[in-house]
Amino acid sequence: MSDIQLTSAITVEEVQQVGSDEMIIRMMLQSTDKAAIELDEPGIVGRLRYLLKSQHGGPLEHGSLTVRVHAPIKVFREWHRHRTWSYSESSGRYKDLEPIFYIPPRDRPMIRPDGFKSARPAFDVATEEEYKEVCTLLRLSYITAYASYQGLLDRGVDRGLARDVLGVGIYSTCSCTANPRNILHFLELRTDHPEAKRPSQPLYEIRVAADQLEAIFARHWPLTHRAWVEHGRMAP
Ligand SMILES: Cc1cc2nc3c(=O)[nH]c(=O)nc-3n(C[C@H](O)[C@H](O)[C@H](O)COP(=O)(O)OP(=O)(O)OC[C@H]3O[C@@H](n4cnc5c(N)ncnc54)[C@H](O)[C@@H]3O)c2cc1C
Repeated sequence: MSDIQLTSAITVEEVQQVGSDEMIIRMMLQSTDKAAIELDEPGIVGRLRYLLKSQHGGPLEHGSLTVRVHAPIKVFREWHRHRTWSYSESSGRYKDLEPIFYIPPRDRPMIRPDGFKSARPAFDVATEEEYKEVCTLLRLSYITAYASYQGLLDRGVDRGLARDVLGVGIYSTCSCTANPRNILHFLELRTDHPEAKRPSQPLYEIRVAADQLEAIFARHWPLTHRAWVEHGRMAP
């Protein structure tokens, strides 16, 4: 029986990027007689602000970012709801799933407080004792589930069926590709910032991934990112 590996790490790594702030504005200007004008930073920023304010989102669809995400399956269950992205995920039918499972970090808020409202979910940080119990229960169920998985594989059962015993805490890897407009829409919904004009309450774990995605996005499209933040983090 293999040992299981427990981790809190959720990673988003850049694979490939195409495009720039200037490219977005060049696409916007294509429909005008200014397509070939010189663009300086204030000229780009002003036009980016206009695109966001007027919800003129088309020019932001030029460009692309591919990231490789390593996360528990529950993160992908939510990420895959973003239908305008493209995905390639490692298979649970063609190879054995590795025994890597998610354990929450100590400071992850997780205990429902008195007066909890599921429409605006906010959790308290666990006490030391509560945290230990949570981790023990998670670990025990991961060990049992993975032992059943291996037992089924040992009996020659189809991997696509054997995996049914595993929960959404097991890790997977997925490459995800989107354009700047898709990404800003994703970040609006899957990050949590006080300055957001349309606040969302994303799951802690997808937020951890979204924060890393935002940092990659801001490196490649710094002016677009800044204009979006100034616009209250609302995507067009
Ligand atoms: C905090 C939070 C809680 C959530 N809770 C739940 C839940 O309890 N249950 C649940 O099922 N889902 C839930 N979701 C998922 C949510 O309903 C969306 O499916 C998900 O956020 C993807 O958003 P999207 O459809 O805008 O993105 P995308 O699929 O990337 O679409 C982007 C945009 O394209 C347009 N579009 C795409 N497809 C269509 C279509 N078929 N018809 C019309 N327009 C389309 C829309 O304008 C859409 O905003 C939750 C999401 C969040 C952020």
